[in-house]
Amino acid sequence: MERQKKTRSWMKPYEIVGVLGLLFLLTLFSTMMVIEQGEAKAPKNTHGEKPSTMNTETVKENVKHEESESSISGENEKQKEEITKKEEKNSVDTKHNQSVQKLTEQEDNEETVETNEEEIVQVEKDEELDDPGIIDDKTVYITFDDGPNENTKSILNLLNKYGAKATFFMLEPNMRKFPEAVTAMVENGHAVGLHGVSHNQDIIYESSQSVVGEMTKAQTTLEKITGIHSDLIRVPYGSVPHMKPSYFDAVDQKGFKLWDWNIDSEDWKFHSGEFVQKVMDQLKDFPYQNEPKVVLLHEKSTSLQYLDSLLQKLSDMGYQMQALTEQMNTVTF
Ligand SMILES: [Zn+2]
Repeated sequence: MERQKKTRSWMKPYEIVGVLGLLFLLTLFSTMMVIEQGEAKAPKNTHGEKPSTMNTETVKENVKHEESESSISGENEKQKEEITKKEEKNSVDTKHNQSVQKLTEQEDNEETVETNEEEIVQVEKDEELDDPGIIDDKTVYITFDDGPNENTKSILNLLNKYGAKATFFMLEPNMRKFPEAVTAMVENGHAVGLHGVSHNQDIIYESSQSVVGEMTKAQTTLEKITGIHSDLIRVPYGSVPHMKPSYFDAVDQKGFKLWDWNIDSEDWKFHSGEFVQKVMDQLKDFPYQNEPKVVLLHEKSTSLQYLDSLLQKLSDMGYQMQALTEQMNTVTF
């Protein structure tokens, strides 16, 4: 029975050992072959034949590459941005330069315009001598009333000292009394005008014809002394309030040019030189832009005493002292 059992076993123990050994060898061989294959195929992996590992590496490399590209791209973006910024800056610079250039051109043009304006102003100044309508800010018209008298020659000397010209509105009796003073005025280039005869407001302003009569008499006397026919007049105490409209019409019809003033020295009421500062103050704040600056003075002793001071101040301020002309537009109150 035991033998049968034993005989039923189709392999002997050594055979089993041999088979197992063979299997072991086969397995070992197979394993070696697999390893050998793996090593042999490894170089192909770069071509994607070992997907898992290669893919990962490729992905990584691609990622790196992309990152690199991204980085490069980022750098490019930065560079582009910088370039764009530079271009914008250049554009801005260009615009700025263009603006600067335009401004410079504008300034040049403005300078040209200013130059032209200066030239025009110069031309206007040149024309002013002939054009009574143009006012020079730096010209003062000094006028003396009530002469001539014993002060006249000294007044003329002071005016000459400063190269100043003035206008004298004279009373007819005084012209007859000091004819040499009148001729000296004319010889020195000053303007001569008429102030009437009586210097009495009750007499001269009695009527329009009394005003015209006194002025005509003074005009005749002046012409006899100097040969000059003057239409320049100043009525005693100024035109306000004595000169009625009909009076103005009467003197206009006779061709007289009636002058008041717009700078009152008030030298008639001061006993010393306060009038000088009065004049300078009124010149500083002169409100009549379209009028010549006409200063009222009188041929009195205190006026003469401080006339040098006045003329010096005016010269220092750059003023020119000129005589009125019959072509100028008159100043009236
Ligand atoms: Zn007077």
